[in-house]
Amino acid sequence: MKYDVMIIGAGPGGIFSAYEMTKLDSSLKIAVFEAGKVLEERKCPIDGKNIKSCIGCETCAIMRGFGGAGAFSDGKYNITNDFGGTLHEYIGWDKAFELMEYVDDINCSHGGGGTKMYSTADSPLKKQCMQNKLKLLDASVRHLGTDINYIVLGNLYDELKDKVDFFFNTTINKIERLDEGYRLWSDNDNYEGSKCIISVGRSGSKWMESVCEELDIPTRSNRVDLGVRVELPAVIFEDITDELYEGKIVYRTEKFEDKVRTFCMNPHGIVVTENTNGIVTVNGHSFEDEGKKTENTNFALLVAKHFSEPFKDSNEYGESIARLSNMLGGGVIVQRFGDLERGRRSVQKRIDEGNIRPTLQATPGDLSLVLPKRLMDGIIEMIYALDKIAPGVANDDTLLYGVEVKFYNMDVKLDNNLMTPYEGLYVIGDGSGVTHSLSHASASGVYVARHIAGQE
Ligand SMILES: Cc1cc2nc3c(=O)[nH]c(=O)nc-3n(C[C@H](O)[C@H](O)[C@H](O)COP(=O)(O)OP(=O)(O)OC[C@H]3O[C@@H](n4cnc5c(N)ncnc54)[C@H](O)[C@@H]3O)c2cc1C
Repeated sequence: MKYDVMIIGAGPGGIFSAYEMTKLDSSLKIAVFEAGKVLEERKCPIDGKNIKSCIGCETCAIMRGFGGAGAFSDGKYNITNDFGGTLHEYIGWDKAFELMEYVDDINCSHGGGGTKMYSTADSPLKKQCMQNKLKLLDASVRHLGTDINYIVLGNLYDELKDKVDFFFNTTINKIERLDEGYRLWSDNDNYEGSKCIISVGRSGSKWMESVCEELDIPTRSNRVDLGVRVELPAVIFEDITDELYEGKIVYRTEKFEDKVRTFCMNPHGIVVTENTNGIVTVNGHSFEDEGKKTENTNFALLVAKHFSEPFKDSNEYGESIARLSNMLGGGVIVQRFGDLERGRRSVQKRIDEGNIRPTLQATPGDLSLVLPKRLMDGIIEMIYALDKIAPGVANDDTLLYGVEVKFYNMDVKLDNNLMTPYEGLYVIGDGSGVTHSLSHASASGVYVARHIAGQE
Protein backbone atom coordinates (compact mmCIF):
# COMPACT_ATOMS: atom_id res chain seq x y z
CA MET A 1 0.00 0.00 0.00
CA LYS A 2 1.33 3.40 -0.90
CA TYR A 3 -0.24 6.23 1.02
CA ASP A 4 -0.90 9.76 -0.15
CA VAL A 5 -0.25 11.13 3.32
CA MET A 6 1.44 9.49 6.31
CA ILE A 7 1.02 11.15 9.70
CA ILE A 8 3.33 10.32 12.58
CA GLY A 9 1.61 10.87 15.94
CA ALA A 10 -2.08 10.82 16.90
CA GLY A 11 -2.10 13.83 19.22
CA PRO A 12 -4.31 16.85 18.47
CA GLY A 13 -2.01 17.92 15.59
CA GLY A 14 -2.18 14.51 13.88
CA ILE A 15 -5.87 13.97 14.59
CA PHE A 16 -6.95 17.34 13.21
CA SER A 17 -4.83 17.03 10.09
CA ALA A 18 -6.34 13.58 9.42
CA TYR A 19 -9.83 14.89 10.17
CA GLU A 20 -9.52 17.86 7.82
CA MET A 21 -8.04 15.81 4.98
CA THR A 22 -10.86 13.26 5.13
CA LYS A 23 -13.33 16.17 4.90
CA LEU A 24 -11.59 17.88 1.98
CA ASP A 25 -10.69 14.90 -0.16
CA SER A 26 -12.19 11.50 0.62
CA SER A 27 -10.04 9.87 -2.07
CA LEU A 28 -6.80 10.47 -0.14
CA LYS A 29 -5.20 7.36 1.35
CA ILE A 30 -4.13 8.38 4.82
CA ALA A 31 -2.19 6.47 7.49
CA VAL A 32 -1.60 7.51 11.10
CA PHE A 33 1.25 5.89 13.05
CA GLU A 34 1.06 6.15 16.81
CA ALA A 35 3.58 4.82 19.34
CA GLY A 36 0.89 4.55 22.04
CA LYS A 37 -2.41 2.74 22.35
CA VAL A 38 -6.00 3.32 21.30
CA LEU A 39 -7.84 5.71 23.61
CA GLU A 40 -9.72 3.17 25.72
CA GLU A 41 -6.58 1.12 26.38
CA ARG A 42 -4.59 4.05 27.68
CA LYS A 43 -4.30 3.39 31.39
CA CYS A 44 -1.66 4.69 33.78
CA PRO A 45 -0.84 1.91 36.30
CA ILE A 46 -0.70 4.35 39.24
CA ASP A 47 -3.76 3.45 41.33
CA GLY A 48 -2.76 5.15 44.58
CA LYS A 49 -2.82 1.79 46.41
CA ASN A 50 -0.58 -0.88 44.93
CA ILE A 51 1.27 1.49 42.63
CA LYS A 52 1.71 4.93 44.11
CA SER A 53 4.23 6.52 41.81
CA CYS A 54 5.53 6.29 38.29
CA ILE A 55 7.08 2.93 37.36
CA GLY A 56 8.44 4.21 34.06
CA CYS A 57 6.34 2.18 31.58
CA GLU A 58 7.96 1.68 28.20
CA THR A 59 5.16 3.69 26.61
CA CYS A 60 3.70 6.30 28.95
CA ALA A 61 -0.10 6.05 28.76
CA ILE A 62 -0.49 9.65 29.89
CA MET A 63 1.65 11.19 27.18
CA ARG A 64 1.16 8.72 24.33
CA GLY A 65 -1.69 7.14 22.42
CA PHE A 66 -4.75 8.42 20.56
CA GLY A 67 -5.28 11.98 21.77
CA GLY A 68 -1.58 12.50 22.53
CA ALA A 69 -0.46 14.39 25.61
CA GLY A 70 -3.81 16.17 25.61
CA ALA A 71 -6.01 13.10 26.12
CA PHE A 72 -6.21 13.33 29.91
CA SER A 73 -5.57 17.03 30.03
CA ASP A 74 -7.96 19.57 31.34
CA GLY A 75 -9.03 20.26 27.78
CA LYS A 76 -8.63 24.03 27.89
CA TYR A 77 -8.63 25.27 24.33
CA ASN A 78 -7.29 28.83 24.47
CA ILE A 79 -8.32 30.77 21.39
CA THR A 80 -5.67 33.44 21.26
CA ASN A 81 -2.46 34.45 19.55
CA ASP A 82 -1.13 35.92 22.82
CA PHE A 83 0.16 32.58 24.10
CA GLY A 84 0.15 28.87 23.31
CA GLY A 85 2.42 29.11 20.29
CA THR A 86 3.62 31.27 17.45
CA LEU A 87 1.52 29.78 14.66
CA HIS A 88 0.45 33.28 13.60
CA GLU A 89 4.06 34.12 12.74
CA TYR A 90 3.89 31.46 10.01
CA ILE A 91 0.34 31.53 8.68
CA GLY A 92 -0.80 35.02 9.68
CA TRP A 93 -2.67 36.44 12.68
CA ASP A 94 -6.20 36.20 11.29
CA LYS A 95 -5.75 32.75 9.75
CA ALA A 96 -4.40 31.31 13.02
CA PHE A 97 -7.34 32.77 14.88
CA GLU A 98 -9.86 31.52 12.31
CA LEU A 99 -8.44 27.99 12.48
CA MET A 100 -8.58 27.91 16.28
CA GLU A 101 -12.23 28.89 16.08
CA TYR A 102 -12.79 26.19 13.48
CA VAL A 103 -11.21 23.62 15.83
CA ASP A 104 -13.55 24.83 18.55
CA ASP A 105 -16.55 24.26 16.24
CA ILE A 106 -15.39 20.70 15.60
CA ASN A 107 -14.90 20.02 19.31
CA CYS A 108 -18.37 21.39 20.00
CA SER A 109 -19.98 19.28 17.29
CA HIS A 110 -18.27 16.16 18.67
CA GLY A 111 -19.52 16.31 22.24
CA GLY A 112 -18.13 19.58 23.59
CA GLY A 113 -21.18 21.69 22.71
CA GLY A 114 -22.52 22.02 26.23
CA THR A 115 -19.27 23.28 27.73
CA LYS A 116 -18.55 26.85 28.72
CA MET A 117 -16.56 29.46 26.81
CA TYR A 118 -14.87 32.10 28.99
CA SER A 119 -13.47 35.40 27.76
CA THR A 120 -11.28 38.21 29.05
CA ALA A 121 -13.04 40.77 26.82
CA ASP A 122 -14.38 43.61 28.98
CA SER A 123 -13.27 41.95 32.18
CA PRO A 124 -12.93 44.38 35.13
CA LEU A 125 -10.02 42.21 36.23
CA LYS A 126 -7.89 43.75 33.50
CA LYS A 127 -7.92 47.11 35.28
CA GLN A 128 -7.42 45.52 38.70
CA CYS A 129 -4.38 43.66 37.37
CA MET A 130 -2.92 46.81 35.81
CA GLN A 131 -3.31 48.67 39.10
CA ASN A 132 -1.17 45.99 40.76
CA LYS A 133 1.63 45.66 38.19
CA LEU A 134 0.05 42.56 36.70
CA LYS A 135 -1.05 42.02 33.11
CA LEU A 136 -4.04 39.91 32.16
CA LEU A 137 -3.53 38.39 28.69
CA ASP A 138 -6.42 38.38 26.20
CA ALA A 139 -8.06 35.04 25.39
CA SER A 140 -11.25 33.10 24.97
CA VAL A 141 -11.08 29.74 26.69
CA ARG A 142 -13.22 26.72 25.86
CA HIS A 143 -13.01 24.52 28.91
CA LEU A 144 -13.91 20.98 27.89
CA GLY A 145 -12.67 19.45 31.13
CA THR A 146 -10.90 16.11 31.35
CA ASP A 147 -14.04 14.02 31.01
CA ILE A 148 -15.65 15.82 28.02
CA ASN A 149 -12.26 16.09 26.31
CA TYR A 150 -12.10 12.30 26.46
CA ILE A 151 -15.59 11.99 24.95
CA VAL A 152 -14.73 14.39 22.10
CA LEU A 153 -11.61 12.36 21.31
CA GLY A 154 -13.66 9.14 21.31
CA ASN A 155 -16.16 10.64 18.88
CA LEU A 156 -13.41 11.90 16.57
CA TYR A 157 -11.83 8.44 16.54
CA ASP A 158 -15.17 6.78 15.72
CA GLU A 159 -15.56 9.13 12.79
CA LEU A 160 -12.02 8.60 11.50
CA LYS A 161 -11.37 4.92 12.06
CA ASP A 162 -13.03 3.71 8.83
CA LYS A 163 -11.51 6.45 6.68
CA VAL A 164 -7.93 6.37 7.89
CA ASP A 165 -5.53 3.45 8.52
CA PHE A 166 -4.45 3.70 12.15
CA PHE A 167 -1.33 1.84 13.27
CA PHE A 168 -1.19 1.85 17.08
CA ASN A 169 1.75 0.58 19.16
CA THR A 170 3.83 1.55 16.14
CA THR A 171 6.82 3.74 16.82
CA ILE A 172 8.40 5.18 13.72
CA ASN A 173 12.17 4.97 14.09
CA LYS A 174 13.36 6.38 10.81
CA ILE A 175 12.22 8.56 7.93
CA GLU A 176 13.85 7.76 4.61
CA ARG A 177 13.67 10.19 1.72
CA LEU A 178 12.83 8.56 -1.61
CA ASP A 179 13.01 10.00 -5.10
CA GLU A 180 9.29 10.62 -4.79
CA GLY A 181 8.00 10.65 -1.26
CA TYR A 182 9.07 9.03 1.97
CA ARG A 183 9.47 5.63 3.61
CA LEU A 184 8.80 5.23 7.32
CA TRP A 185 10.48 2.47 9.29
CA SER A 186 9.04 0.91 12.44
CA ASP A 187 10.59 -2.04 14.35
CA ASN A 188 8.93 -4.64 12.13
CA ASP A 189 7.79 -2.94 8.98
CA ASN A 190 8.09 -0.07 6.55
CA TYR A 191 5.49 2.13 4.90
CA GLU A 192 5.65 4.31 1.82
CA GLY A 193 3.85 7.54 1.08
CA SER A 194 3.99 10.68 -1.04
CA LYS A 195 3.78 13.14 1.80
CA CYS A 196 4.59 12.95 5.48
CA ILE A 197 3.39 15.01 8.43
CA ILE A 198 5.41 14.70 11.62
CA SER A 199 3.32 15.48 14.71
CA VAL A 200 5.18 13.82 17.55
CA GLY A 201 4.66 16.37 20.32
CA ARG A 202 6.70 16.73 23.45
CA SER A 203 7.19 12.99 24.01
CA GLY A 204 8.72 12.69 20.54
CA SER A 205 11.08 15.64 20.96
CA LYS A 206 14.29 13.62 21.25
CA TRP A 207 13.38 11.55 18.20
CA MET A 208 12.46 14.74 16.31
CA GLU A 209 15.91 16.06 17.08
CA SER A 210 17.51 12.94 15.64
CA VAL A 211 15.37 13.20 12.49
CA CYS A 212 16.49 16.79 11.99
CA GLU A 213 20.11 15.80 12.48
CA GLU A 214 19.86 12.91 10.05
CA LEU A 215 18.04 14.91 7.37
CA ASP A 216 20.10 18.01 8.02
CA ILE A 217 17.12 20.21 8.90
CA PRO A 218 18.25 23.26 10.92
CA THR A 219 16.90 23.66 14.49
CA ARG A 220 17.13 26.14 17.34
CA SER A 221 16.52 25.66 21.05
CA ASN A 222 16.90 28.14 23.86
CA ARG A 223 13.92 28.19 26.22
CA VAL A 224 12.61 26.33 29.23
CA ASP A 225 10.02 27.49 31.80
CA LEU A 226 10.54 26.56 35.44
CA GLY A 227 8.55 27.09 38.58
CA VAL A 228 6.08 25.67 41.04
CA ARG A 229 2.44 24.68 41.19
CA VAL A 230 0.44 26.67 43.72
CA GLU A 231 -2.51 25.07 45.53
CA LEU A 232 -4.92 27.09 47.64
CA PRO A 233 -8.56 27.07 48.73
CA ALA A 234 -10.71 27.58 45.62
CA VAL A 235 -12.60 30.40 47.33
CA ILE A 236 -9.49 32.61 47.34
CA PHE A 237 -9.23 32.59 43.56
CA GLU A 238 -12.92 32.31 42.71
CA ASP A 239 -13.39 35.93 41.59
CA ILE A 240 -10.86 35.18 38.86
CA THR A 241 -11.78 31.60 38.02
CA ASP A 242 -15.57 32.16 38.08
CA GLU A 243 -15.21 34.91 35.54
CA LEU A 244 -12.36 33.65 33.36
CA TYR A 245 -11.86 30.03 34.37
CA GLU A 246 -8.21 30.51 33.53
CA GLY A 247 -6.61 33.90 33.88
CA LYS A 248 -3.24 34.16 32.18
CA ILE A 249 -1.55 36.78 34.31
CA VAL A 250 1.98 38.06 33.82
CA TYR A 251 4.14 39.91 36.36
CA ARG A 252 7.46 41.64 35.76
CA THR A 253 9.63 41.26 38.85
CA GLU A 254 11.09 44.37 40.44
CA LYS A 255 14.38 42.76 41.36
CA PHE A 256 15.45 41.21 38.06
CA GLU A 257 12.73 42.36 35.64
CA ASP A 258 12.02 38.70 34.86
CA LYS A 259 8.56 37.73 33.67
CA VAL A 260 6.62 35.35 35.92
CA ARG A 261 3.30 34.05 34.62
CA THR A 262 0.39 31.95 35.76
CA PHE A 263 -0.12 28.81 33.73
CA CYS A 264 -2.70 26.02 33.57
CA MET A 265 -5.24 27.06 36.18
CA ASN A 266 -7.46 24.31 37.58
CA PRO A 267 -10.36 25.56 39.66
CA HIS A 268 -11.55 22.86 42.09
CA GLY A 269 -8.93 20.59 40.54
CA ILE A 270 -6.19 18.25 41.61
CA VAL A 271 -2.42 18.42 41.46
CA VAL A 272 -0.85 15.49 39.60
CA THR A 273 2.58 14.18 38.79
CA GLU A 274 3.82 13.85 35.25
CA ASN A 275 6.59 11.68 33.92
CA THR A 276 8.62 12.89 30.95
CA ASN A 277 11.41 10.56 29.94
CA GLY A 278 11.70 9.24 33.52
CA ILE A 279 11.71 12.66 35.17
CA VAL A 280 8.83 13.34 37.55
CA THR A 281 7.41 16.85 37.54
CA VAL A 282 4.13 18.37 38.67
CA ASN A 283 1.01 19.41 36.75
CA GLY A 284 -2.70 19.95 37.39
CA HIS A 285 -6.11 18.69 36.28
CA SER A 286 -9.69 19.71 36.81
CA PHE A 287 -13.03 18.13 36.01
CA GLU A 288 -16.38 19.23 34.65
CA ASP A 289 -18.06 16.49 36.68
CA GLU A 290 -19.32 18.06 39.93
CA GLY A 291 -18.65 14.82 41.79
CA LYS A 292 -14.94 15.00 41.08
CA LYS A 293 -14.43 18.62 42.07
CA THR A 294 -12.22 19.43 45.06
CA GLU A 295 -12.20 22.38 47.45
CA ASN A 296 -8.87 23.61 46.02
CA THR A 297 -7.65 25.52 42.99
CA ASN A 298 -4.19 25.03 41.54
CA PHE A 299 -2.09 26.85 38.96
CA ALA A 300 1.55 27.06 37.99
CA LEU A 301 3.83 30.05 38.40
CA LEU A 302 6.53 29.84 35.78
CA VAL A 303 9.60 31.86 34.87
CA ALA A 304 10.92 31.60 31.32
CA LYS A 305 14.65 30.97 31.04
CA HIS A 306 16.24 31.89 27.73
CA PHE A 307 19.83 30.96 27.06
CA SER A 308 22.36 32.36 24.66
CA GLU A 309 25.59 30.99 23.17
CA PRO A 310 27.42 28.76 23.91
CA PHE A 311 24.72 26.91 25.90
CA LYS A 312 22.19 25.22 23.62
CA ASP A 313 20.37 22.60 25.65
CA SER A 314 17.74 24.53 27.59
CA ASN A 315 15.68 21.37 28.17
CA GLU A 316 18.64 19.65 29.77
CA TYR A 317 18.87 22.58 32.20
CA GLY A 318 15.18 22.08 33.12
CA GLU A 319 15.64 18.32 33.40
CA SER A 320 18.63 18.76 35.70
CA ILE A 321 16.60 20.91 38.08
CA ALA A 322 13.70 18.44 37.98
CA ARG A 323 16.17 15.62 38.66
CA LEU A 324 17.43 17.52 41.68
CA SER A 325 13.92 17.69 43.12
CA ASN A 326 13.44 13.97 42.33
CA MET A 327 16.73 13.26 44.10
CA LEU A 328 15.76 15.18 47.24
CA GLY A 329 12.09 14.27 47.37
CA GLY A 330 11.93 10.96 45.53
CA GLY A 331 9.54 12.73 43.17
CA VAL A 332 7.59 15.95 43.69
CA ILE A 333 8.32 18.16 46.73
CA VAL A 334 5.62 20.16 48.55
CA GLN A 335 6.26 23.17 50.77
CA ARG A 336 4.01 25.61 52.64
CA PHE A 337 4.56 29.22 51.52
CA GLY A 338 5.07 30.19 55.19
CA ASP A 339 7.86 27.63 55.53
CA LEU A 340 9.54 28.86 52.37
CA GLU A 341 9.42 32.44 53.64
CA ARG A 342 10.89 31.35 56.99
CA GLY A 343 13.70 29.44 55.31
CA ARG A 344 12.73 26.02 56.65
CA ARG A 345 11.62 22.79 55.02
CA SER A 346 8.01 21.71 55.42
CA VAL A 347 7.17 18.63 57.45
CA GLN A 348 4.03 16.51 57.22
CA LYS A 349 2.81 17.63 60.66
CA ARG A 350 2.76 21.33 59.72
CA ILE A 351 1.04 20.53 56.42
CA ASP A 352 -1.57 18.40 58.24
CA GLU A 353 -2.20 21.23 60.71
CA GLY A 354 -2.70 23.75 57.88
CA ASN A 355 -5.97 24.88 56.33
CA ILE A 356 -5.42 23.20 52.98
CA ARG A 357 -5.89 19.52 52.30
CA PRO A 358 -3.29 18.67 49.62
CA THR A 359 -4.70 16.88 46.58
CA LEU A 360 -1.34 15.26 45.82
CA GLN A 361 0.68 13.12 48.18
CA ALA A 362 4.12 14.69 47.77
CA THR A 363 7.24 14.75 49.92
CA PRO A 364 7.39 17.74 52.29
CA GLY A 365 10.67 19.52 51.66
CA ASP A 366 12.44 22.75 50.80
CA LEU A 367 12.05 24.10 47.29
CA SER A 368 14.73 26.71 47.83
CA LEU A 369 17.27 23.87 47.67
CA VAL A 370 16.03 23.01 44.20
CA LEU A 371 15.12 26.16 42.29
CA PRO A 372 17.77 28.81 41.60
CA LYS A 373 17.45 31.86 43.87
CA ARG A 374 16.60 34.21 41.02
CA LEU A 375 13.60 32.07 40.03
CA MET A 376 12.48 31.54 43.60
CA ASP A 377 12.66 35.29 44.35
CA GLY A 378 10.57 36.00 41.25
CA ILE A 379 7.93 33.46 42.28
CA ILE A 380 7.73 34.89 45.81
CA GLU A 381 7.35 38.44 44.41
CA MET A 382 4.54 37.24 42.11
CA ILE A 383 2.74 35.53 45.00
CA TYR A 384 2.65 38.85 46.86
CA ALA A 385 1.48 40.66 43.69
CA LEU A 386 -1.34 38.12 43.23
CA ASP A 387 -2.24 38.53 46.89
CA LYS A 388 -3.30 42.10 46.05
CA ILE A 389 -5.92 40.99 43.52
CA ALA A 390 -6.83 37.77 45.37
CA PRO A 391 -6.12 38.28 49.08
CA GLY A 392 -5.04 35.04 50.69
CA VAL A 393 -2.68 33.83 47.98
CA ALA A 394 0.30 34.71 50.20
CA ASN A 395 -1.11 32.89 53.25
CA ASP A 396 1.32 30.69 55.17
CA ASP A 397 -0.65 27.55 54.34
CA THR A 398 -0.61 28.05 50.56
CA LEU A 399 1.08 24.98 49.12
CA LEU A 400 3.84 25.07 46.53
CA TYR A 401 4.68 21.88 44.63
CA GLY A 402 7.85 21.58 42.65
CA VAL A 403 9.11 21.50 40.28
CA GLU A 404 6.92 22.33 37.38
CA VAL A 405 8.85 22.44 34.15
CA LYS A 406 7.51 23.41 30.81
CA PHE A 407 9.83 22.02 28.21
CA TYR A 408 9.86 23.49 24.76
CA ASN A 409 10.71 21.53 21.69
CA MET A 410 13.43 22.99 19.61
CA ASP A 411 12.22 25.16 16.72
CA VAL A 412 12.44 23.26 13.46
CA LYS A 413 13.22 25.39 10.42
CA LEU A 414 9.95 25.51 8.47
CA ASP A 415 8.49 27.68 5.76
CA ASN A 416 5.19 29.53 6.08
CA ASN A 417 3.30 26.33 5.26
CA LEU A 418 5.06 24.43 8.08
CA MET A 419 7.01 22.48 5.48
CA THR A 420 10.67 21.53 5.99
CA PRO A 421 13.21 22.27 3.23
CA TYR A 422 12.04 18.93 1.73
CA GLU A 423 8.97 18.98 -0.49
CA GLY A 424 6.04 17.19 1.16
CA LEU A 425 7.67 16.78 4.59
CA TYR A 426 5.81 18.85 7.20
CA VAL A 427 6.25 19.26 10.95
CA ILE A 428 3.26 20.41 13.00
CA GLY A 429 2.12 20.69 16.62
CA ASP A 430 4.39 20.85 19.64
CA GLY A 431 7.06 18.74 17.94
CA SER A 432 7.75 21.62 15.57
CA GLY A 433 8.41 24.14 18.33
CA VAL A 434 5.77 26.34 16.67
CA THR A 435 2.96 25.39 19.06
CA HIS A 436 2.65 24.51 22.71
CA SER A 437 -1.06 24.14 23.28
CA LEU A 438 -4.07 22.10 22.24
CA SER A 439 -5.66 24.77 20.07
CA HIS A 440 -2.48 25.84 18.29
CA ALA A 441 -1.39 22.23 17.69
CA SER A 442 -4.84 21.33 16.33
CA ALA A 443 -4.98 24.45 14.15
CA SER A 444 -1.54 23.67 12.70
CA GLY A 445 -2.90 20.24 11.72
CA VAL A 446 -5.88 21.77 9.95
CA TYR A 447 -3.65 24.26 8.15
CA VAL A 448 -1.29 21.63 6.73
CA ALA A 449 -4.22 19.39 5.73
CA ARG A 450 -5.68 22.27 3.73
CA HIS A 451 -2.30 23.03 2.21
CA ILE A 452 -1.92 19.42 1.06
CA ALA A 453 -5.46 19.42 -0.31
CA GLY A 454 -4.59 22.56 -2.25
CA GLN A 455 -6.85 24.86 -0.24
CA GLU A 456 -4.21 27.09 1.38
C1 LIG B 1 -1.10 16.88 31.81
C2 LIG B 1 -1.19 17.84 30.65
C3 LIG B 1 -2.18 18.80 30.63
C4 LIG B 1 -2.27 19.69 29.58
N1 LIG B 1 -3.31 20.59 29.56
C5 LIG B 1 -3.44 21.42 28.51
C6 LIG B 1 -4.55 22.31 28.44
O1 LIG B 1 -5.46 22.32 29.26
N2 LIG B 1 -4.59 23.17 27.39
C7 LIG B 1 -3.65 23.19 26.41
O2 LIG B 1 -3.76 24.00 25.48
N3 LIG B 1 -2.62 22.33 26.44
C8 LIG B 1 -2.49 21.44 27.46
N4 LIG B 1 -1.45 20.57 27.48
C9 LIG B 1 -0.51 20.56 26.35
C10 LIG B 1 -1.16 19.83 25.17
O3 LIG B 1 -1.55 18.55 25.58
C11 LIG B 1 -0.17 19.77 24.00
O4 LIG B 1 0.16 21.10 23.65
C12 LIG B 1 -0.79 19.07 22.79
O5 LIG B 1 -1.20 17.77 23.13
C13 LIG B 1 0.20 19.01 21.63
O6 LIG B 1 -0.35 18.26 20.59
P1 LIG B 1 0.57 17.50 19.53
O7 LIG B 1 -0.34 16.78 18.62
O8 LIG B 1 1.53 18.45 18.97
O9 LIG B 1 1.47 16.46 20.39
P2 LIG B 1 1.07 15.32 21.42
O10 LIG B 1 -0.27 15.57 21.99
O11 LIG B 1 2.21 15.19 22.35
O12 LIG B 1 0.97 14.01 20.53
C14 LIG B 1 2.09 13.45 19.91
C15 LIG B 1 1.84 11.95 19.69
O13 LIG B 1 2.90 11.46 18.88
C16 LIG B 1 3.24 10.15 19.31
N5 LIG B 1 4.62 9.89 18.91
C17 LIG B 1 5.74 10.51 19.36
N6 LIG B 1 6.84 10.01 18.72
C18 LIG B 1 6.39 9.04 17.88
C19 LIG B 1 7.03 8.17 16.96
N7 LIG B 1 8.36 8.19 16.76
N8 LIG B 1 6.27 7.29 16.26
C20 LIG B 1 4.92 7.25 16.43
N9 LIG B 1 4.26 8.07 17.29
C21 LIG B 1 4.99 8.96 18.00
C22 LIG B 1 3.08 10.21 20.82
O14 LIG B 1 2.89 8.93 21.34
C23 LIG B 1 1.87 11.13 20.99
O15 LIG B 1 0.67 10.40 21.12
C24 LIG B 1 -1.34 19.65 28.52
C25 LIG B 1 -0.33 18.68 28.53
C26 LIG B 1 -0.25 17.77 29.58
C27 LIG B 1 0.83 16.72 29.57
